[in-house]
Amino acid sequence: MREILKNYKTIIGQIKNYEKEFSKTSKNPKLIAVSKTFEANVVKIVLNLGHRIFGENKVQEALEKWPDLRKEFKNIELHLIGGLQSNKVKQALEIFDVIQTVDREKIALKIRSSLDQAFQKKKHKFFVQVNTGNEIQKSGIKIDETEEFVKWCKEDKNLNVVGLMSIPPINEVSSLHFNILKELSNKCGLEEVSMGMTSDYKEAIQFGSTFLRIGSGIFGERD
Ligand SMILES: *Cc1c(COP(=O)(O)O)cnc(C)c1O
Repeated sequence: MREILKNYKTIIGQIKNYEKEFSKTSKNPKLIAVSKTFEANVVKIVLNLGHRIFGENKVQEALEKWPDLRKEFKNIELHLIGGLQSNKVKQALEIFDVIQTVDREKIALKIRSSLDQAFQKKKHKFFVQVNTGNEIQKSGIKIDETEEFVKWCKEDKNLNVVGLMSIPPINEVSSLHFNILKELSNKCGLEEVSMGMTSDYKEAIQFGSTFLRIGSGIFGERD
């Protein structure tokens, strides 16, 4: 517990330092505390510090953890940062406020139809995931198809797309990908850019990230 408190404060301090260092390009990013694999009791340590923006990568895990936490703590903003399957879309829309992994037409269509059928209307935000590394195994829209896909999601499907997200290839310099994503989001006329994890949030701040996704840097190593 002491460790998590210390980690959290260190990260917050570092973000401030980097914002100063890169004041010309920094966009004062928000911090998403990525709580995947950590139990509710551990997540509460960070909630008790007043933090309210969290990220999970699995719908099932979020369903098990967050309904109770939401009862205890108000104004939580929960982001889905992991891949979404069509058969989980309905549940994802119920538990998450923001879905960062809209990565194909099929999912966008499913989101549209689930929103239309939803009993409870909640104002979601969506990010389009971009495969900036053009990796075969990684999901995401291709760079040169992103603008058209975003336009289609927003105009044809009336989805509230606010930004782009990407996960750079592990063996490459993140900055290159951050630069691509930032430029692409400008081109698409989008405000938000979700990029930067524990290992590369400094560069992400430099390149104008608006949402940092930090897990192990706060909660410690995952099993
Ligand atoms: C797990 C995860 C993170 C957080 O990674 P850390 O290295 O633990 O900070 C960020 N983004 C996505 C998409 C993740 O799955």
